[in-house]
Amino acid sequence: VFQLSVPLNFLGSVYRELRQSLLDMETLFNLQKVNVSIKEKTDARPLALTKGGEIRFDNVTFGYYEDRPILRNLTVTIPAGKKVAIVGPSGCGKSTLLRLLFRSYDVQSGRIFVDDQDIRDVTVDSLRRSIGVVPQDTPLFNDTVEHNIRYGNLEAPHSEVVAAAKRAHIHDKIEGWRDGYQTKVGERGLMISGGEKQRLAVSRLILKDPPLLFFDEATSALDTHTEQALMANINSILKEKARTSVFVAHRLRTIYDADLIIVLREGSVVEMGSHRELMDRAGLYAELWMAQEMLMNEDGEGVEDEEKG
Ligand code: ATP
Repeated sequence: VFQLSVPLNFLGSVYRELRQSLLDMETLFNLQKVNVSIKEKTDARPLALTKGGEIRFDNVTFGYYEDRPILRNLTVTIPAGKKVAIVGPSGCGKSTLLRLLFRSYDVQSGRIFVDDQDIRDVTVDSLRRSIGVVPQDTPLFNDTVEHNIRYGNLEAPHSEVVAAAKRAHIHDKIEGWRDGYQTKVGERGLMISGGEKQRLAVSRLILKDPPLLFFDEATSALDTHTEQALMANINSILKEKARTSVFVAHRLRTIYDADLIIVLREGSVVEMGSHRELMDRAGLYAELWMAQEMLMNEDGEGVEDEEKG
C-alpha cells in the first residue's frame, strides 16, 4: 500500500501544479495579448516581500515598438498596504504599467522594484504568484462555477469558495442558477453576463489572496448600485489585510477614496495626490471629475441599465 500511495500522491501534486500553471498561463496570456519572451536570470531568487509590497517605478521608459514610447521616464512609488488609483485618458499607458510589473514585457530603460528588489532579479514564478489581477475581461473555463472560483486556490474547501463568492456579491446569483455552484459556465455552459464574470473574477482573487492586487477596470460592467456594494466589500478586505492595491479606473467615483491617485497623461505622471488635493489643484483630474459628474447628472444617477454586457 505504501509503495502505491507515494506515486499517487506525487501524481496529485503534479496535477495540481499543472492546473496552477494553466491558470497562470491564462492570466499571463490575457495580460500580454501577444507572446513576448522575457528571460529569467540563472541566479534569480524568489521575491521576498519584506516591506509589505511597495512598488517603485524608477525612470521607466517603455514602448511596444522601440521608436514609440508609451511610458516616458516614469518615476512613481506605490506605497505598501495602500489603495492606489491610476487614472488618465484612454491609451495613456495604465494597463501597460501593470503588464510591466507582471513581466509580460521588460522595460527598455529604468527599473521596477518590489520591496527594493529589481523584478528582473527575482524568479518570474514568485513575482507572478504575488500578484493577483482582475483583468478587464476574465476568461472562464468550461467547468463548474465552483471550479472557476477555486482556480484562485486549488486547496480551498467549499466553505471558503462560498465565503469568497459572498464577499464578491455573486453568491445569491449562483444559488439561483440551475445547479448552484455545480452549474457549468463558459462556452459550452451557462452564458453569463459581463458583470457576473467580473464578480466571479473577484471571488477568485479573494480566494487567491495575493499580497499585491490589481483591478483593471474590474467593475466596469456593473450597474452603479452593485459596483458600490462590491467596492465596499473589496475595500474592507484591503483594509483588514493591509494589502497593496492598484485600481485602473475610468469611472472616478469608484476610486475617489483611494489613499493616492496617480494621474497619467501620455505615459508620464502629471498629478498625484488624494481626491481632495487633486480637486484643489484644479488640473486634469478635477477636469475629468467634473466632466464625469456632469454626464452622471445628465443621465440621471442610478437609472443605468440593470447590468451591462
Ligand atoms: P485604456 O484606458 O483605453 O484601457 P490604457 O491607458 O490602459 O488605455 P494601454 O493599454 O496601456 O493604455 O495602452 C497604451 C498604448 O499602447 C496605446 O496607444 C495602445 O494602443 C498601445 N498598446 C497597448 N498594447 C499594445 C500591444 N500589445 N502592442 C502594441 N501597442 C499596444
